[in-house]
Amino acid sequence: MLRLMDIVDRVQATRPTANVDLVQRAYVFTAKVHHGQVRMSGEPYLIHPLNVAFLLAEWNLDEETVATGLLHDTVEDTVATTEEIRDLFGESVAHLVDGVTKISRVTLSDVAAQKAESLRKMILAMGKDLRVILVKLADRLHNLRTLHHLPPDKQKAIARETVEIYAPIAARLGMSRVRMELEDRCFEVLHPEQFLELSRKADERRRNREAHVRSVVTLLEGKCRDAGIDAVITGRSKHLAGIYQKITRQGIDFDHVYDFIGFRIMTKTLRECYEALGIVHNLWKPVPGRFKDYIAMPKANLYQSLHTTVFGPNAEMMEIQIRTEEMHALAENGVAAHWKYKEGRQTADKGDQMFLWLRQILELQQDMKDPREFLNTVKVELFPEEVYVFTPRGDVKELPRGATPIDFAYAIHTEVGNQCVGAKVNGRMVPLKVPLKNGDVIEIITQPAHKPSRDWLKVAKTSRALNKIRAVLREEQQEQSLALGRQILEKELRKYSLNLNKVLKGQEFSEILQESRCKTAEDYMMTLGYGKVSVMPLLRRLVPPEQLQEKVKESRLSSLIRKVVMRKPSSVVVKGMDGIFIRLGNCCHPVPGDPIVGFITRGRGVTIHSKECPKVLESDPERAIEVSWEEGTKTVHPVKLRVVCSDKPGLLADISRSITASDVDIRRASVLTTRDKRAICNFEVSVNDADHLASLIKSIEKVRGVQSVERGKG
Ligand code: MN
Repeated sequence: MLRLMDIVDRVQATRPTANVDLVQRAYVFTAKVHHGQVRMSGEPYLIHPLNVAFLLAEWNLDEETVATGLLHDTVEDTVATTEEIRDLFGESVAHLVDGVTKISRVTLSDVAAQKAESLRKMILAMGKDLRVILVKLADRLHNLRTLHHLPPDKQKAIARETVEIYAPIAARLGMSRVRMELEDRCFEVLHPEQFLELSRKADERRRNREAHVRSVVTLLEGKCRDAGIDAVITGRSKHLAGIYQKITRQGIDFDHVYDFIGFRIMTKTLRECYEALGIVHNLWKPVPGRFKDYIAMPKANLYQSLHTTVFGPNAEMMEIQIRTEEMHALAENGVAAHWKYKEGRQTADKGDQMFLWLRQILELQQDMKDPREFLNTVKVELFPEEVYVFTPRGDVKELPRGATPIDFAYAIHTEVGNQCVGAKVNGRMVPLKVPLKNGDVIEIITQPAHKPSRDWLKVAKTSRALNKIRAVLREEQQEQSLALGRQILEKELRKYSLNLNKVLKGQEFSEILQESRCKTAEDYMMTLGYGKVSVMPLLRRLVPPEQLQEKVKESRLSSLIRKVVMRKPSSVVVKGMDGIFIRLGNCCHPVPGDPIVGFITRGRGVTIHSKECPKVLESDPERAIEVSWEEGTKTVHPVKLRVVCSDKPGLLADISRSITASDVDIRRASVLTTRDKRAICNFEVSVNDADHLASLIKSIEKVRGVQSVERGKG
């Protein structure tokens, strides 16, 4: 059991000149007035104030605050009065105890107005003397640690209040260690089943990842040592409540939480932080858009650190935080660490940035009569990264800043999101891409059978919405590909009077399935529809060679070219499909801006024709699909090139490489070999303009073995 000396020792360790007599006298007084009282656990009541005082001592707080920790329940729960406290312990401690007592008097309830009132009291108390709130946080933390002795409904009520008020305040004060403990304990009380399941999974994953963590830490330690950086490196898992939030907010499952284990590099100096960052980015490729410099731009609660996410070993994403020891102390203990580093400052300093937000809230609340209004304002201040908006029925939805009506629609229900066709904000129709503001009332207009469009991926901000939209698009794309693949297959088989159902049951087909790594006939048709595989290998198995109308015989060389040339992403976007092969018509050479239409080409995806192209009239209208140019693409012009060279191994690869090196996209290539050991290669490439073409021809001419390069016809 905790003893008085543990607390005194702790206070003296950080503050050698502290007036520990005050703490000792407070202990004697508390022991006297709480004498005979027991907690729900059956233990003497004194255990609670002792623990609260010890927590405060651990947070390096001064003797007045620690004494208040001991005395905090005396006025509320015993015969002691504020006057007595003032006489015995002075004005300062009396004020602190009074502040804590006043907050405690607010009855716990689910009614929003009362919650708001309790929060208002806390904020007011904080404004007068921040130490009041620190005592309250220590009080709440110890109560949560011993919560299991209370009846379940009481446990849940306390946990809910903690999540809504205390944990955010701890976060706002930068006390992340306290916040995480509060959140984890509340998570366990509020969602016991999910807590158990998640902690089991987390333990398992931690065990599996032990070797990985150790190797990353060892590697970083070595690299830092080599660079002369004195650093401590750790790899630890995220707190469970944080993971749970991530999973529920983003609608992902545990296996997809990539930052489950976060690495941390703690250096002695600020300069070493950036040096360590250099080491990290040198070892592993950073994930674009994930680097954040909170050292140069600290968060509102003064948090400082460098954050980066990299593709680590095995291309696994991992998050790394880099900061100095002092920044780390601030990140873990926030205000409390502040006390230590700015020794002697005990009350809220008006000039201190840390308390700027607090003062702003205090000023705001003076104009607000309605406690609910105050609660909303404070929530906004406590969570600067969120917006709070309302359903027409008055329910609050919390969304990240920048969220749009689409995010709101998906936050309500997946189907509301999928069928969303419009939105009214505060009674007026608005475009779906307009960011929501605090206090907006949003009404979503839905239409049954409506489907999300690809453009929504640019408009939605929440992972939940993005995931749901992608899922629908993927499904749609798969359906389209399946239908297309089936069409292609049926039509090809009909040509040779083959029956689809018979073919699907045959030995040849199961061989093809294996070859194309498809599990089912549907998978095969889908890849066929995508244009990923050709129907030819199947036909070759079913039809005698002399009957087979194979249009283009692929030579050994041209298949080599296909291997060498990486297909670049096309500049044409097909509505509702991606990952599909797209070619521009050889006949009409459409350029961006032309009205276009796409046709599914047998086994080769989609061919784009200009709408005026005569081919359009000849083509099967059933194969036509809607296509559109992607906005902002560079205009490219297809050109045919005829390259004559000697037929020797490796030469085609060299030519292809020199073409792609000139930043030119090869759309097609074919090769003819002649009897005199020469090869005639026909390339179809895309160039930006005539200069581009001229420099391309020059660079091909430089390839050894090339005899001539000329522009082809058509
Ligand atoms: Mn208490």
